[in-house]
Amino acid sequence: MKKWVYNFDQISDAEALMDSWENVRGLLGGKGANLADMVRLGVPVPPGFTITTEACNAYVAADATVPEGMWGQVRTAMDHVEVRTGKVFGDPSNPLLVSCRSGAKFSMPGMMDTVLDIGLNTEVVKQLAVISGDAHFAYDSYRRLIQMFGSVVLDYPDEPFEEVLAEFRTARGVTSDGDLTTEDLMAIVDRFRGLVPEFPDNPNEQLKLAVEAVFKSWSGKRATDYRNAAKIPHDLGTAVNVQTMVFGNLGDDCLTGVAMSRHGATGENHIEGDYLFNAQGEDVVAGIRATKDLAEMATDMPTAHAELLAISTQLENHYRDMQDMEFTVENGKLWLLQTRDGKRTAQAAVRIAVEMAEEGLISKEDAVLRVTPDQIDFFLHPQYTIEARKAATAAGNLLAIGLNVSPGAAVGVVVFDADTAVEWVEQGKKVILVRPETRPDDVHGMLAAEGIVTSRGGRTSHAALVARQFGKPAVVGIAELDIDLEGRTMSVGDRTIAEGEVVSIEGTSGEVFTGALPTVIPDMNDRWLTTLLSWADEFRRLGVFANADYPADATRAREYGATGIGLCRTEHMFFEAERLPTVQRMILADNLEDRQAALDELLPMQRNDFKGLFEAMSGLPVIIRLIDPPLHEFLPGHDELEHELRDLVDDKSVSHDAEIQQVEKVLARVDSLHEENPMLGFRGARLGILMPEISRMQARAIFEAACDAADAGFTPIPEVMIPLSIHVKELERLRALVVEVATEVMSERGITVEYKVGTMIETPRAALTAGPLAREAEFFSFGTNDLTQTTFAISRDDAEKGFLIEYVEQGILPMNPFQTIDRLGVGTLIKLAVEGGRKQRPGMDIGICGEHGGDPESIAICHELGLDYVSCSPFRVPVARLAAAHAALNDK
Ligand code: ADP
Ligand code: MG
Ligand code: MG
Repeated sequence: MKKWVYNFDQISDAEALMDSWENVRGLLGGKGANLADMVRLGVPVPPGFTITTEACNAYVAADATVPEGMWGQVRTAMDHVEVRTGKVFGDPSNPLLVSCRSGAKFSMPGMMDTVLDIGLNTEVVKQLAVISGDAHFAYDSYRRLIQMFGSVVLDYPDEPFEEVLAEFRTARGVTSDGDLTTEDLMAIVDRFRGLVPEFPDNPNEQLKLAVEAVFKSWSGKRATDYRNAAKIPHDLGTAVNVQTMVFGNLGDDCLTGVAMSRHGATGENHIEGDYLFNAQGEDVVAGIRATKDLAEMATDMPTAHAELLAISTQLENHYRDMQDMEFTVENGKLWLLQTRDGKRTAQAAVRIAVEMAEEGLISKEDAVLRVTPDQIDFFLHPQYTIEARKAATAAGNLLAIGLNVSPGAAVGVVVFDADTAVEWVEQGKKVILVRPETRPDDVHGMLAAEGIVTSRGGRTSHAALVARQFGKPAVVGIAELDIDLEGRTMSVGDRTIAEGEVVSIEGTSGEVFTGALPTVIPDMNDRWLTTLLSWADEFRRLGVFANADYPADATRAREYGATGIGLCRTEHMFFEAERLPTVQRMILADNLEDRQAALDELLPMQRNDFKGLFEAMSGLPVIIRLIDPPLHEFLPGHDELEHELRDLVDDKSVSHDAEIQQVEKVLARVDSLHEENPMLGFRGARLGILMPEISRMQARAIFEAACDAADAGFTPIPEVMIPLSIHVKELERLRALVVEVATEVMSERGITVEYKVGTMIETPRAALTAGPLAREAEFFSFGTNDLTQTTFAISRDDAEKGFLIEYVEQGILPMNPFQTIDRLGVGTLIKLAVEGGRKQRPGMDIGICGEHGGDPESIAICHELGLDYVSCSPFRVPVARLAAAHAALNDK
């Protein structure tokens, strides 16, 4: 018969069936596999067993029927636990209590529910009070079981239970449930049983229902939403762990806590954690009582503390990663209840990876692979300047300081519930979600928000964990923050903020400010980041260039590690306010003379732009693309002109004849340039063929600037790129033109500058005829935006609003091809072009400069296709460096 159940001390049996630890985790879930692994390592773990994910999947598939033989195996495993503990499940004279814990392959914090203290009933609790000599503890455990059973297994709302507890606290004049008397707890138990009439007295029944509830929770909405957000497959199933209870609530030499072997926010190599005396399970994470800092445990309970530190190191060495642990001390004895790789911020991920490599725990390759490109991206998220923070503080805008659990700055309007957050974000607002504490059903709002604030909870609270995982700035546990969910306001002292007002939060420092603070991009001089990226550079084969039009962008790109400009779009400069009129005159000119006059005015402006680029990128290639967009883009629209014309005609106060004539002329030109499909029209190389004087001016500006830069001691490496070519004849002509101008300028100046002329590959025809094109082109650059557009025959501007999204949602396309290169279609064209080009011109430089150049998956494809470099926006350069290293390392 199939084995559905594994005792914690049977891990080798599971391993014998599986070919990797990954698969053992798949079978037993992360929690179960690690519990069993800890048992093997000799770490103190309360005895128990795991019901496999296969059992859960079988249950779901069979419409909520447990697979045959499973309960029998559970009984056998329970016998084993009874032998190990010397206690008997359901026996009042010597009761064994267990917890029933979910645990999927990937940790899903708070998504699946756990029931503690299973095995208690009216009889057992009485005896437990006697045996333990602690009636308070016995009834405290019992009331917890009834409440958890009611809410988790039977799906009752929590509020009625909380109301009863609040009633007793008020009557007793205490703030913590732990301070209620035994009589109170007994009375509460009676009230709770009234709330849950179907609570089963039979411990076996309790266990069965709890196990099934865990199975069911896998397909519940909360878990499903979380998996969607975290991109976890839906068919993994969850395991169920049944484990002997150890009690952190059995008096003052008992406590329960959580710890991270390194700092989850900064990555500092120092254990951190929280604990609570005389408490159980979720008390610490729920943030109901103020927790103590783990450091205090060194004096509170030195032996257990020292043992915990030793185990923390042992586990880190074993898993070679930062560990997130749950522990309980019962009457002075330490027990570990869980360990897993800890969630961490991007900053912490980088620091931990680098330091672990430096400590020799992992290799440099591992360190590079452990940090995701997204995490690097997060480094580049906005922060507030020191000055802005000082100014805001001085102005009295610092509202409160809480725990800094997830770094980064976020500005937005306050909302008090997840649904409103989502609604407002859909309306285009940026929001900060403010809650007393967050729960799994707030996750959709947390994902929509720019940042998260809570008044309760600690570093390991739900809000902190989720925020960290998704890179959302968060500040939690602001004790002085009063949130009035009914009145939709929050206040600190006498200051009140209403829903919809703007606040700024700083997850790195824990500060919350009123109003919007200006943000800046952080500098990249973090020691750990620099080290990690330098390792990435050792491993990658692809070069990383940047798309930059202005010297300031080029300078930033170079700081971020770009080794060239892959695309400078000259026309961006044409759109500048003081240049546009000249550009328009150039386009409107009806004779060559007038056009030349306008071009002569543009020449020095362009020259200046290019000179700055050459200086910033001295010694590195700067690829400058000749004018590309359809000319109508530089002119006013038809309707706008008609409107203007009408206004002029209507205004009889003075004569507008001259103006009217001018507007009519522009209108005529606009109409003559009108095309049904401008993106497939008069643009790209075609402009240079029909208006060579524009290309000539641009070429002159490029080479004069290069000579100027060389004169000033820089090393310019200009590469002139012809856009949207479709035929080698275009390249023949335009290349000849560029060479002619270059030769002319260099001989005028008496300076020689090395340069190249190449083309963009943006149409299927260009890709298919790459061989002939390479006769004239010294380099290729794939303009993958247009190449995707022309390959799919989908207009990018329109499609992303409409059917393309549907196509992706309906699974017709696996992903948006404008975001990630379409491997099969566009990828094949790239492959053909690379082969064709290199056959004609061995060793020619080939790269891409579309939006895809900054997308990690596309970068992997570029690596596979043997490109020389990717070019992306300056901010993506560090991301691309890491992604390129991943591509190379994964290729081995
Ligand atoms: P989650 O996945 O939400 O963390 P867990 O299964 O880890 O849920 O359990 C919730 C809490 O209950 C944790 O603090 C855990 O340490 C505690 N807990 C679970 N099982 C036991 C047990 N057998 N004895 C004592 N505490 C337990
Ligand atoms: Mg839970
Ligand atoms: Mg846990």
